[in-house]
Amino acid sequence: MSDPLSEREQATAALNLVAAAAEPYLGSLGERPVHDHSADHLLDLLEGPLSEEGEGTMAAVEQLLAVGTEASTQTSGPRFFHFVVGGATPAAQAADWVTSLLDQSSGLHLTSPLAARAERVALDWLKDLFGLPPAYGGVLTPSATFANLTGLACARQWWGERHGADVTSQGLAGLPRMPVLAGGYIHPSSRKALQMLGVGRDGVTVCARDEAGRVDLEAMERELAALEGPAVIVGNAGEVNTGDFDPIADLADLAGRYGAWLHVDGAFGLFAAASPRLRHLVEGVERADSITADGHKWLNVPYESGFAFVRDQDLMFRSFGAWGAHYLPSDVNYNNLGPESSRRARALPIWATLRAYGRQGYARLVERHHDLALHLAEAVDKAPDMELLAPVPLCVVCFRYRPEGTKEKEELDDLNRRLGAALLADGRVYAGTTTYRGVTALRPAIVNWRTTEADIDYFWQVLRELADRL
Ligand SMILES: *Cc1c(COP(=O)(O)O)cnc(C)c1O
Repeated sequence: MSDPLSEREQATAALNLVAAAAEPYLGSLGERPVHDHSADHLLDLLEGPLSEEGEGTMAAVEQLLAVGTEASTQTSGPRFFHFVVGGATPAAQAADWVTSLLDQSSGLHLTSPLAARAERVALDWLKDLFGLPPAYGGVLTPSATFANLTGLACARQWWGERHGADVTSQGLAGLPRMPVLAGGYIHPSSRKALQMLGVGRDGVTVCARDEAGRVDLEAMERELAALEGPAVIVGNAGEVNTGDFDPIADLADLAGRYGAWLHVDGAFGLFAAASPRLRHLVEGVERADSITADGHKWLNVPYESGFAFVRDQDLMFRSFGAWGAHYLPSDVNYNNLGPESSRRARALPIWATLRAYGRQGYARLVERHHDLALHLAEAVDKAPDMELLAPVPLCVVCFRYRPEGTKEKEELDDLNRRLGAALLADGRVYAGTTTYRGVTALRPAIVNWRTTEADIDYFWQVLRELADRL
C-alpha cells in the first residue's frame, strides 16, 4: 500500500530521477524532430483506471518520465516556429524547479515574504527593461490572457467609477455598455477577457483601414467624438500574423484627447522595448493605462507566466482587493492586485533569468531573433516560387508558397494549407498556417533562445523539400 507519508524518503530520490533525465532530454532538443509521431502510441500508457492502492512514488515518476521525454512536443526546442512559443532559458528552467522545490503559497505576503519580495523586484526589473515608469503597479499572472483580463478589469472599474458606479462591488447592472475600440489587430484573448468581464466579446468597435487590420485612426477618432462617456481603447503591440504594431503613440494621443483608457496588449511585442534598435516600435507604450505581456513567450521562462502593468496601482486594488482588506503598498498581497488567489511563486524564474542575462542579454536575444527573421525573409524573397506577404518588423515571417502556374486563390490557399499540414505531419520542424489578408499563409515566429541560423536554414530546407513533394 502506498501512502505519501510512508514514502517520505522517496522525495529526493524522485527529484534525482528528474535531474538525471534532464541531460539526455535537453541534449536532444534540436537533435530530434520537434514531434516524433512514432512515439504517439506511448500516450496510451497514461491511461488506465484510477489505481486503488497506488504504484508508489518512484514508479509513477519513472512512468511519467518514460512517456514524457519521448512523447512530448519539443516546443521548447530551437525548431518550433508555430504560434509564438518561447523556450526556457537555463536560469529560468532551473529557477522553475526551485519554485516547485520551495512550493511557496505566494498570494499573501504573510505566507511567503520571499515570493512577495521576488515578485516586486521582478516587476521593477521588467518595468525597467521595457522603459515603463517605475510608479506603475504590476502583478504576475499565469498568461497574457490573464494579464489582459487584469488590465481590462481595471479599465472596467475605472469606467464604472466615471459613471458613479463601483462595478467590483455592484456589477454592471444599470450601466450602459462599456465602449471598447480597437484596430483589427486585437487578439482573441482580449475579446476573451471582455467576455469574462461581462462586457461582451463582440461589442468591440473595430476601426481598421485594410484587410490586414491596420488601425484607422480617423475612424477611431470619429467614434470617440460621437460617444457620450469615456471609452476603452485596446492597442496591439505585436500582432501574431506578421508581428506588426499599432501606432501606440497615436493611440495614446487619442486616449489623451478623449479621456479614454488605453490598454496595450504587448504579449510578445513589448519585448521590442528591450532593444535600442527596435524600441521605436512601441513608442508611446509608457503612456498606456494598462499593459500586458507574456513571460512564457519571449522572456523564455517556463509556462505559466505573464504580467500586467497598470498606471494606477490603487485601481488594481479596487478591482481585485478582498472585502474589507486595506491597501498597504509596503506589504503587497499580490492576490489583491490580480485575478488569482493562491498561486505559485512564478516570480522566481523571472527573477533568475533577468539576474542571469540582464538588459543586454535580452537586447541581444531580441535582436538576434529579428536578424534570423530577416534572414528567413531574404530566403523567401529570393525564391521565385515563394511570396513574402508582409514586412518583417520583429520576429514573425508571413509568406506563402506560390509556384508558377498556380494563380487561382482557392488553389493557392489549398496548396498552402497542405504545405502547413505536411510540415506538422513531418514533425522535423513546426510551423502552421493562418489567414492573412484573406489568404492562407505560413507565419513562423522566432522567439526561442536556442534558435540559431542553422535551425532557420534547416527549416527552410525541410519546407523546400515538402513543397517540392506536393
Ligand atoms: C499569445 C498572445 C496572447 C495570449 O497569451 P497567452 O499567454 O497564450 O494567454 C495575447 N495577445 C497576443 C498578441 C499574443 O500573441
